Amino acid sequence: MHMISGIVAIVGRPNVGKSTIFNRIIGERKSIVEDTPGVTRDRIYGKAEWLTKEFRVIDTGGIQLADQPFREEINMQVEIAIDEADTILFVVNGKEGITNDDEYIARLLQRSQKKVILAVNKVDDFAQSDSIYEFYNLGLSDPIAVSGAHGIGIGDILDAIVNSFPDKIQKDYDGMTRFCVIGRPNVGKSSLVNALLNQERVIVSNIEGTTRDAIDTPFKREGKEYVVIDTAGIRKRGKVYENIEKYSVLRAMSAIERSDVVLVVIDGESGIRDQDKHVAGFAHEAGKGVIIVYNKWDAVEKDEKTMNRIEKEIRTQFQYLSYAPILFVSALKKQRIQTILPMIDDVHDASVLRIQTNVLNEVLMDAQLMTPPPTHKGKRLKIYYASQVAVAPPTIVLFVNDPELLHFSYKRFLENSLREAFGFQGTTLRILARERN
Ligand code: GDP
Ligand code: GDP
Repeated sequence: MHMISGIVAIVGRPNVGKSTIFNRIIGERKSIVEDTPGVTRDRIYGKAEWLTKEFRVIDTGGIQLADQPFREEINMQVEIAIDEADTILFVVNGKEGITNDDEYIARLLQRSQKKVILAVNKVDDFAQSDSIYEFYNLGLSDPIAVSGAHGIGIGDILDAIVNSFPDKIQKDYDGMTRFCVIGRPNVGKSSLVNALLNQERVIVSNIEGTTRDAIDTPFKREGKEYVVIDTAGIRKRGKVYENIEKYSVLRAMSAIERSDVVLVVIDGESGIRDQDKHVAGFAHEAGKGVIIVYNKWDAVEKDEKTMNRIEKEIRTQFQYLSYAPILFVSALKKQRIQTILPMIDDVHDASVLRIQTNVLNEVLMDAQLMTPPPTHKGKRLKIYYASQVAVAPPTIVLFVNDPELLHFSYKRFLENSLREAFGFQGTTLRILARERN
């Protein structure tokens, strides 16, 4: 289930310290998955945690228009913040005082009726804290003194952010399978969504939701309920910023996060590009179910070997997605569109599969008997016991004599054994080792 309390977006003039504060808020997140090659770490979208609440942070300063006057750029950043976030963190520079541009931004924010937190940055020592008072003139909330550089006042900001979110955690679409369709521009994402929604026996429902939910589409097919989560370029045509790559990355990340299953669309007409790998890498890193949809199959010149050859190419290019099934479809000609929803069901089921502990241990025991762990510096890994501790993605903890002895290749072998026994199609598997004590 989704326990994200909310999304906060940071806005403000250049150089006031937005990205410094962004980095302070998200801190250094330790990832339990291996790094995925090809994923650029754009620091515009991050996860944060404070007082048991988890939330998302967007640094709109990282999204820029080429060669546009400042006002155009700030209009865009504020618009994105208002569109995407529950709360806006407006950063000003306490050393400079209020500028015309600060006033301009404040007016845009007042009109938005979003909750605004006002951070007066660069208040590096207590003696300067009086400088925050003039910022009451902006007519926003009480200014909070911070120093992003020195990490002062960050806790106050985090408190204000967390307090600004509604108490009731909204469970989006309980009991429904949520999926999104991602890919670079023009691969056929919206054609695919339309083809899915125009299938026979699909009933599109009008479930009322919050503003952000309103762009998602719930529907039913054969008694099952789904929601297709909107991503950039599907419903928002016409906005100046929709073609900025960083903005589409941001939209894709937030859509991936709210999904159970992600369809990664590749354009069969133009073939695999680097950008496809970035997009797919995000889905993998988020631990979501993944299906690779090779679209525009109608436009591919083919003989009986083509499908095999392309499958091999996909496996080579997306090595970290070896678990993802591949579908060859045409959104335009409606070819094999009807295979998509059943595949989404299968992948979703696999990602929430819970293996009984005794069965899990039997399979792992057999695997070890067949291929014992190699020795390392005279020591051999001993697995005492295994337990599945989470689903979506399935996460298995091995209690061992020494976690350092679980090497990548043996972990891969165990993963393959688990996949052979239980399937886990379309989902990543997390295998963690802990020392038994
Ligand atoms: P952004 O353009 O708003 O994202 O601003 P940055 O975070 O890139 O910061 C702009 C400059 O201000 C950098 O040189 C930072 O080192 C500096 N800076 C950020 N926070 C503080 C602060 O709290 N105190 C001082 N003195 N400088 C800061
Ligand atoms: P999006 O930007 O990813 O949402 O892509 P669109 O759905 O707007 O499609 C981009 C272009 O590709 C349009 O001209 C579509 O008609 C075309 N297109 C989409 N799906 C297919 C397909 O299966 N086959 C062919 N030949 N063209 C397609």
